[in-house]
Amino acid sequence: MAYTEQQIEELRGHLERRRTQLVDEIRGELARSDEQRYIDLAGQVADAGDASVADLLVDIDHAMSVRDIRELREVEAALERIAQGEYGQCDSCGMEIGFARLKAYPTAARCIACQTKLERGHAGTGTPSL
Ligand SMILES: [Zn+2]
Repeated sequence: MAYTEQQIEELRGHLERRRTQLVDEIRGELARSDEQRYIDLAGQVADAGDASVADLLVDIDHAMSVRDIRELREVEAALERIAQGEYGQCDSCGMEIGFARLKAYPTAARCIACQTKLERGHAGTGTPSL
């Protein structure tokens, strides 16, 4: 592995701080969504306009939680790779992910080439075939 222990430690510090942050955010969102449920129940007699705003807020809240939970999983996977000594290896081609990329994006599981390929692939599958 071409990274120094110090470089890995630096990224591990970032990842651990990010994990703490995300756990706090997710806890906050869960607490808020409980309140939101209460507001929804209390607002069942409100008119349709208010109800759709409430629905929208729940959707936004939900989307935020999903994003945070996904990021938390990525952070935990990265920490696991560090623990296993596999950190910095591309998941797809096995090549080393550049340190600059890891520094900018410590949860990166793939090198730029493979990530770009993957994203293009996903964009392709979204096109309906008639
Ligand atoms: Zn790769």
